Amino acid sequence: MSSKSFNPFEMAQAQFDKAADILDLDQPTRDLLRNPMREYHFNIPVRMDDGKMKIFRGFRIQHNDARGPGKGGIRFHPQETVDTVKALSMWMTWKCAVVDIPLGGSKGGVICDPHNLSMREQEAICRGWVRQLSKDIGPLTDVPAPDVMTNAQHMLWMLDELETIYRQKLPGFITGKPVGMGGSLGRTEATGYGVVYTLREALKELKLRPENTIASVQGFGNVAQYAIKLYTQLGGKVICVSCWDQNDQTSYTFRKDSGIDVEALAGITDRFGGINKDKAKAMGYEILPGEAWIEQDVDILMPNAIENQITGANVNKIARRVKVIAEGANGPTTPEADKVIQERGIFLIPDFLANAGGVTCSYFEQVQSNQNYYWEKEEVLGKLDVKMTSAFLAVSELARKRKLYMRDAAYVIAVSRVAQACRDRGWV
Ligand code: GLU
Repeated sequence: MSSKSFNPFEMAQAQFDKAADILDLDQPTRDLLRNPMREYHFNIPVRMDDGKMKIFRGFRIQHNDARGPGKGGIRFHPQETVDTVKALSMWMTWKCAVVDIPLGGSKGGVICDPHNLSMREQEAICRGWVRQLSKDIGPLTDVPAPDVMTNAQHMLWMLDELETIYRQKLPGFITGKPVGMGGSLGRTEATGYGVVYTLREALKELKLRPENTIASVQGFGNVAQYAIKLYTQLGGKVICVSCWDQNDQTSYTFRKDSGIDVEALAGITDRFGGINKDKAKAMGYEILPGEAWIEQDVDILMPNAIENQITGANVNKIARRVKVIAEGANGPTTPEADKVIQERGIFLIPDFLANAGGVTCSYFEQVQSNQNYYWEKEEVLGKLDVKMTSAFLAVSELARKRKLYMRDAAYVIAVSRVAQACRDRGWV
């Protein structure tokens, strides 16, 4: 899916440089924020089910913790690179700052493909990852969470390993835990719902009613499924979803002009978000190439999968009718494509704002875990809506007042908060 020349860290730095210029940041602040504070690269030896040893490469990057403990997910991905994790850690810093939660930015990863690993092998990777980092992560230093191809079970194994090492219960060490084992109600829905809370506000601003809009979505994992559910509840219609088929290593777009049935499709989807083609066809879906999601004649596009998906090569395929792009994924749009989107005046809800619902709910989970007192789901989702809506309104107001592109406005707010924290601490 990703082109070889694409470097997400260079892209994250280019976006930061633009914000630094708008804010006229001094050189030490730029130097501090352009690169992560700390990086950990390590080996994780695992005895595989066939009895042989295999060494997996793991990472944790702590970009900045001036505003609070580092926060960010752990990805399991066969094409994971240090530069991807570095970019993602930087985006986490801005994400926590734009929604104004007292956390910094981190990200972790392991080069592995869970499709080809047994649960026991995955457990060994999780425990090994924590053993390598146990002195440098924890509830008051750096708090991991799920991300691409990791879930609540992985988080619980990691928590169990750290608690075993420290011989203490430390539920605030990790978020995205199973409900009943320190997890928060609403955490599973949070990222997808958060995308739609911001989308709802964008539509209000554009004086569009959700029931008069249609959308096309890339991805059918956790973020995409819950975004589709809430958008549909608001009256919108999703006509297309695209996902990756691990069996033939190709992506497909599933289209139904009358609107997709998210529950029915979820029923024929594997745990990585891959929809069964034959079953979908039997349900009346048209099966198109993976790229087709972007060229649909819709009002809203939601890239809710992974980075580097809207590029110079396909941005011109976006239909004239598209008015809003809500980036549920991290880094889905390259700078080249960004320019075109800005010139065309499409209303962009940038990634670290649109998809901040996950980490915001993680913050609520950490608060609940530290207090050992858990809230009702309505309370969690109500608080999430308030946080997401006020972050969106602050960004859109700044964009309007200073005539900034929405991505730049989000950067200006986030970077200035982080820079201020660094100055207040005497780091620059
Ligand atoms: N992995 C999610 C993200 O990229 C959530 C991170 C978290 O909850 O810490 O925002």
